[in-house]
Amino acid sequence: MARETLIIGNWKMNKTISEAIDFMDTIRQEMGKTTRGVALCVPFTAISTVSVMAKEMNMPIGAQNISEHDHGAYTGEVSAEMCRDAGADFTLIGHSERRKYFGETSELTCVKIGRAINHNLAPILCVGESLEDRENNQSERVIAEQLEEGLKGFEAGELGRLIIAYEPVWAIGTGKVASVEVIEEMHHFIRDLLSARFSAEFAKATRILYGGSVKPSNIASIIALEDVDGALVGGASLEAKSLVQLTLTVGTTR
Ligand code: PEP
Repeated sequence: MARETLIIGNWKMNKTISEAIDFMDTIRQEMGKTTRGVALCVPFTAISTVSVMAKEMNMPIGAQNISEHDHGAYTGEVSAEMCRDAGADFTLIGHSERRKYFGETSELTCVKIGRAINHNLAPILCVGESLEDRENNQSERVIAEQLEEGLKGFEAGELGRLIIAYEPVWAIGTGKVASVEVIEEMHHFIRDLLSARFSAEFAKATRILYGGSVKPSNIASIIALEDVDGALVGGASLEAKSLVQLTLTVGTTR
C-alpha cells in the first residue's frame, strides 16, 4: 500500500486563539476542502477551537506533547485523554526541543507513546542527532538508540498509526536544511531499523517525515526522495500562505 504524503505544521509556542482562527480562515479560503495531506500541531489552548474548524476541511490536528501520566496531581500537565477530548487526532512525542529544554529521555518517550495509543492519538516519534553527534560519526547510533528505547516493548500491531519524524537537531530552526544525501541515507537507515525490529511490511507501511528548516523553496527536492513521506515544518508553517504553498508544491511533485 502506498504511503500517503503528509505535511505537518508545528506552531510550537506561537499563536493565540484569535490568531489561530485567522490562520484557519485563510487556509479555508485558499484550500477549501482540499487539505488532504496537511495537518497541524497547535498549542494546547488552541486544540479545541482549531479542531472544530479543521474537521470541516478534513485536516487532522495534533498536540505537541502529552503528559506521561494519565491523570492526578501533576500541576500544569495535559494528558493524552484531554488532548483527544479537545479534538486532537495525533501528538508529537520527543520533539528535540522537549528533549533539550525539558530533559525528556527516550525512556519517557516510550511511556508517552503508550499513553497516546491508549487514548487513540497517533504518535509521531521525533528522533534526531545533534551536530556534535554528526561530527563524531554518531548519528546512526543515536537514532538507533532513540528508536529502540522509544519503541521498547511494543508490538507492530499496537503501532499501526505510528509516524517517525527524522529531525536532525542542527537543522531545526537554523535555516540549515540537511542535504538530500543525508536525508536519504538517514530515512533509509530508519526504515531498515523498523524492518529489523518489527517486519518488512511494517517498515514499508510506516511514514517517515523529514524536519529541519523545510520551506516552500526547498521542499520539492526533499519530498522527491524515495524514503521521505512528508515533512514536519516549524517556522514555515506559521504563515498560512506558506503552508498552502508547501502543500501545493508537494501535490505537484509526487
Ligand atoms: C520543528 O519544529 O520540528 C522544525 C522542524 O522546525 P523548523 O522547520 O523551523 O526547522
